[in-house]
Amino acid sequence: MHDKPIVLWFRNDLRLGDHAALVAAVHTGAPILPLYILDDASPKQWKMGGASHWWLDKSLAALAGDLASRGGPLVLRRGDSETELLRMIEETGAAAVYFTRSYEPWAVALEQRLKTKLDDANVACRRFGGRLLREPEDMRTSNGGFYKVYTPFSRAIMKDLVPAKSVRAPERIATLEKQPKSERLRDWALHPQKPDWSKGFAAAWQPGEAGARKRLSDFVRTALKSYARDRNCPATPGTSRLSPHLAFGEISPAACWHAAAHAGGKTNGSDNAAETFLKELLWREFSAGLLFHFPELPEEPFRPEFSAFPWHGNAKHLKAWQTGQTGYPIVDAGMRELWATGYMHNRVRMITASFLIKHLLIPWQTGEAWFWDTLVDADLANNSANWQWVAGSGADAAPYFRIFNPVLQGEKFDPDGDYVRRWVPELAKLPRQIIHAPWKADSGTLMEAGVKLGKSYPNPIVEHGEARARALAGYEHIKNSH
Ligand code: FAD
Repeated sequence: MHDKPIVLWFRNDLRLGDHAALVAAVHTGAPILPLYILDDASPKQWKMGGASHWWLDKSLAALAGDLASRGGPLVLRRGDSETELLRMIEETGAAAVYFTRSYEPWAVALEQRLKTKLDDANVACRRFGGRLLREPEDMRTSNGGFYKVYTPFSRAIMKDLVPAKSVRAPERIATLEKQPKSERLRDWALHPQKPDWSKGFAAAWQPGEAGARKRLSDFVRTALKSYARDRNCPATPGTSRLSPHLAFGEISPAACWHAAAHAGGKTNGSDNAAETFLKELLWREFSAGLLFHFPELPEEPFRPEFSAFPWHGNAKHLKAWQTGQTGYPIVDAGMRELWATGYMHNRVRMITASFLIKHLLIPWQTGEAWFWDTLVDADLANNSANWQWVAGSGADAAPYFRIFNPVLQGEKFDPDGDYVRRWVPELAKLPRQIIHAPWKADSGTLMEAGVKLGKSYPNPIVEHGEARARALAGYEHIKNSH
């Protein structure tokens, strides 16, 4: 039993269950000081986006409630993490800082600096895993490098992966007799402003650990068994929608793994229904590893030849893409879903990203930045790895010359047009055969559906065949110049 407090520094691990740092801290018997720092230390372009701020607001409120019911209030501070942590140690005489490790380049650098400072001050610095299933340092290829191709990575990780066992949240958390001052969450004004586009978020999500656990149990009970079939259909609730909960660490990947593996095994005899889902969780691991070993991933193409790509998109096209006014219904539906809910279905993320990069010739980094600001699940590794995957410039990326045709993609993955009807209501009355290409409808059909092309819904801002040819010419340029 120690008298000196331990600072439990919360970051992207806003939960109490399956929290190795919390378990270890409680185990010492010392009083615990749960602390969250709103840190603006990340580089300008990777400051937390508007949608993430909305989520953070709710998630911190939930965490504070969960902690309070166990006796330990959450202290909130704003500023530079290092400075605030040192200040907290000085204010409370804390003997240790415990935290879950992170993998963003600035977070890695911060952890290193902090360790040196705490060592100098004779304060223990203990770092724990939990954000990933396996630490990136443990995933080495036979010649000691890191994995750049997903399939061997997933095979290697699957071979001997034993995800951490689930640990329940402690029932009581010993607290300090004299609490340091906390800022007030509401003073942080984390909702997007001018405009506040987050009004529809609350109906779609329940941020916080309880919401995450509910989401996981609902998913394994319902959609998991048909996940492999339905995961590509944006109109069907066929995926877990766990991504923002995972991004904020409200649930551990290990908990998702165990729940799915257990339920999947039971649902489908020899063919484990969970396998496809578990492989998606491994894409998350793979992306985190890429970012860890190649910290330039959010800005630089992984394949250097793509630096010379002749982009020439324009601001008008970018605006049309952001606001869901491109004239391609599946693209517009996705961009509007994103704006309204802070989320977009994975298949549609691929279609909209491909459209921006290849049809509009706008750099993938521009789309990445928009997603970063508007996604509630914005995650530096997943976002940059996936944008690069679509752009063809990433590790193990889709070949550049495979250019999605947004009409065919719509017809294949939204065959009845239900997803488009939900998000592009001005097209709702079009028959399914034509809903993905309204400009091909005859005037009678358009009139009957109340669609006035160019007025109630735009004509396509680029023609698919021409755009495809331009994109391929751009690719030839980098192929030949390298
Ligand atoms: P499920 O299908 O239920 O998958 C379960 C979990 O596996 C997800 O929650 C996620 O953590 C992980 N996962 C699934 N697909 C991927 C993938 N392709 N790459 C990495 N991890 C994956 N995901 C983010 O979490 N944050 C992002 O910022 C992000 N940006 C993206 C940008 C683009 C251009 C694209 C094409 C994809 C992006 N993704 C991102 C990946 C993917 O679209 C989302 O993880 C997924 O749609 C989340 O929905 P879900 O939780 O229902 O997924």
